[in-house]
Order: sequence, then structure tokens, then C-alpha cells
Amino acid sequence: MSYTALYRKFRPDNYDDVKGQEHITRTLANQLKKNRIGHAYLFCGTRGTGKTSVAKIFARAVNCENPINGNPCNECPTCRSIIEGTSMNVIEMDAASNNGVDSIRDIVEEVTYSPTSGKYKVYIIDEVHMLSISAFNALLKTLEEPPSYVIFILATTEAHKIPITILSRCQRYDFKHISVDVIKNRLSELAAKENMDVEDKALTFISKMADGSLRDALSLLDECEAFCIDEKLTYDKTLEILGAVDTTIFSNILRCILNQDTIGVMKHIEEMVNYGRDLLQFVIDFTWYLRNLLLIKTEDDADEIIDISEENLLRLKEEGEIIETPVIMRYIRVLSELTNQIKYSSQKRVLIEIALIKLMKPEMEKDVESLTNRLANIEKKLENGILIDGASKKNVLNKKEEAREEKVIPKEELVKAVPEDIKKVIENWNDILKNFDPLSKSYMKNSKLLMENETLLVVPENNTAYSFLKQKESNIKYTIEKNIEKEIGFKISEANFKEEADSIDLKDIFGKINMSVEDNFDDAEEM
Ligand SMILES: [Zn+2]
Repeated sequence: MSYTALYRKFRPDNYDDVKGQEHITRTLANQLKKNRIGHAYLFCGTRGTGKTSVAKIFARAVNCENPINGNPCNECPTCRSIIEGTSMNVIEMDAASNNGVDSIRDIVEEVTYSPTSGKYKVYIIDEVHMLSISAFNALLKTLEEPPSYVIFILATTEAHKIPITILSRCQRYDFKHISVDVIKNRLSELAAKENMDVEDKALTFISKMADGSLRDALSLLDECEAFCIDEKLTYDKTLEILGAVDTTIFSNILRCILNQDTIGVMKHIEEMVNYGRDLLQFVIDFTWYLRNLLLIKTEDDADEIIDISEENLLRLKEEGEIIETPVIMRYIRVLSELTNQIKYSSQKRVLIEIALIKLMKPEMEKDVESLTNRLANIEKKLENGILIDGASKKNVLNKKEEAREEKVIPKEELVKAVPEDIKKVIENWNDILKNFDPLSKSYMKNSKLLMENETLLVVPENNTAYSFLKQKESNIKYTIEKNIEKEIGFKISEANFKEEADSIDLKDIFGKINMSVEDNFDDAEEM
């Protein structure tokens, strides 16, 4: 048995079944009752709001032998033949695929013959804005003086593209976006008829996703049902099926931003580009995600108004715990500005990357929000008991990791390293390097080592090495401290760092030690 899509199966067959457009259906029914039918109608409105359905009901109603209160009876031979598609009185045309002047000339010619049965010939031209100018001109004359038995119904999603000469000859009806409540009621009704086992919250979500289009809502419900044969369609499943997986990516990116993990952020963007995701939509959705975060943080019963799964809600709450309200507000502001910027830009990806880096670096901005953000960062570090560079405080959110990290980083106060200790670091440099992966080791080996104000500075030879090592700054610092058992002032400085007059170049000592260690090693091998 072939399956009929829900929206086809439940196409309304009378005005009462058309939801959310009572202002139109009542007028049309009244026109028929009072015998004041027009000859040219323009139905405008976004997709799935019922334009074609109403046009078809109207076409039957005007031809029906026993109309009931302005509605077609759907039972008389005329109604039946229109429903079955055998009637010559209702002619549908899709202007999207027949936009040339020839299709209209055919109609204009046909119009001259009166209907063989029934009262009216009804021409329904869908997507009428797609007609070419010459096609519109060809139609114009017939619209001006149509034979008494002809009715034109022009339907469009883009009324502004229709020439004024055409507009002025039509009765215009604007179909409204259908409200979430109306869509949801209709879905519940149909789900009950179809014996579907659907969670109420799932229907609400589908209704919201449909964005004012009942047809889209039915298609979405269809799609979800297909995945859950003989199973209850739950809210969580709906999210999964309709791609709400997406909120995980926002959560992941947000966590990278909070961890100052530039590379992580870049990887996620790369991933999205590879998946062919619409980048503008991504920014809009990410802003929405932060809006939810803000709600979670500021409202006690925000759960009610936020549409995400239990699992994602927990993550969101976890994030709410570690991010300050002014910081979220700054993020939302930066992203809103970004939305405007990238709308017409061909460099969407780069602009997004810059904006996300900006989120990580409030010091790049000078406004109050950014300053608050910087303060919040410092407070967070103080709370954690260690004032280390944010670049390295990995996985702030991951509780397990955090526990492990707390175990690793000694909380007890270490004695501060003096210049002598720093020199000792240089002596131990080769041993310290052994703790790192080959790439870090090589970058560190080729770096310049300076001492400035009792701080050890590692100056990598180029920017690649710098951004690589900067990510590991606290890790390196920690390894060094473990080695000398002292707290050390430590920093990875930018490759083009200009040393101050009083900074000491440790390279000479390093070079000597390095040589001697390796010499010894060579000797040992020779022996
Ligand atoms: Zn009838």
C-alpha cells in the first residue's frame, strides 16, 4: 500500500478545515452566499499557509450544485469531478515552470470557450510572480475584461514582484503566518486521527520549527514518524531527527571559547564548512543558544520556554554555572554585530573566526562589557587557586578533568624562584624538554630564552611556533616548576618580542649546557 504524505492526506476540503485564515475564508464564503463573486483574486502569503487549498475549495464552491453555507458540498457530481481531477472547469498552472508568454496565450485563447458543465472556469496560477513581463502583459487584457464565467486566482509568495497593473485588477487576500498554537492544535487533531503516539512537547517543538507553515509542520511530523514506527515519538527523538544535534556544536564551541582554545574553535568552524552548513544561519543559531544560556542564568523556570533536550539542558546549565551574565551579554552583542557584517560578505568564514577570537580576547576591546569580561576571567582564575594564563586552563568545564588537574597542580605555595633558580632551569633545560612531544621540543629548543624582571621568557623563532607553544604555556610552566620545585615567573612571548635593556639573554648559557650534555652523551655512546 502506498503511503500518502500527511499534508496531502489532510488537505482541507472545506473552509472550516483551513486553519488560521478565518479572515479570508469567511469573506469568500460570504461572497458566494451573496452572489458577489469577483473575477480576479490575488492570494499572497508565505509557503504552506493554505493559499492553494483555499483556491481549490473556492473553485469547487463556486461550481457546486448544493453549496452549504458558502462551502462546497464535496458530494455532487461537479464537486466529485473536480476532486477527482476530471473536471475541465478547474485549471491549475504553475508559473514557476510555465513562465513564458506562450502558456498565457494558451489560457487567453481557452478562456473564450464557456464551460461545458458547471458555472465557472477557474484558473489557478501558482507562483504567479515568476511570469515574464510579456506573459503578464498577455494576461492583463483578459484580467481587465474577463468573460462572466471566468475566475482567476493568482497565488504568490512574493506579491511585491507583481506589476502594479495586475495588482490593481485583483482582490487581494493576505494569508497570515499560522500561529504555533493553531498549528499545534491541528497536529494533535491529526495525530489522534492517525493513532500516532506522540509526546505533547514534541508537537510543540514541531509547530515552532514549522515557522508559520502548516504544510511544513505536517511534513516534519511525517519525517519524525517515519523514524519512530511502533515507537512513541518523544521530544528528545524529535530533536534528534530534526537536526537538533546542532546545539551540541554550539556547546562545544562555547566551551572552547571559555577555555581560550583557539585551535578547537577553528576545528569546529572547519567542520561546519565541510558539512556545508549555512554560516549565517550558524551565527544566528549560536546567538539564540547564548540567549537560552542567558535565560537559564537569569530565570528560575527557564526550562519551560527553552526547546532543548534534557541532555543539552544539563550542559547548558553547567555552562551557566561558569559564565557570568555580562560576559554572555558581550558575546551576544559581538555576534549580533557579526550577523549584520556577514550578511552580504563573501568572507563569512574569516569574519566569523575573527569574531570568535574576539570573544576569547576581551582585551581587544575597550568597552565596559569587555572590561567586565576580563575581570570575570581573572576572578575565575583566582577562584581556581592559581593565576595562570587562561590559554592553558583546559577543559574548565569537564568536571573529571578538572578534578584530575586539581590533583596534579600542587595547591601548596611554592617558594618563588629567584634569578639563580631560573639559571638552574636553563641547566636542566634538556631534561625538561624530555617531557614534551617532538614538535614542542623542537620549537622550544629553537626559541630564545630571556630573563626579565625575574621572569623566564621563551621567545619562539616565528609566529607558528608562538601560537603552538602559547597553547601549552601553563603546561610548560608547570613542568618547569615540577623540575625546580619553585614557583616561577614564566611566559611565552611573541616571536617579534623586543627585549628590554635590562633583560638577560640566557642563550649563551643554554648553548654551552646544551653542547656539553650532548657531548657527554656522544662520549658515552662511543665507549
Ligand atoms: Zn457540490
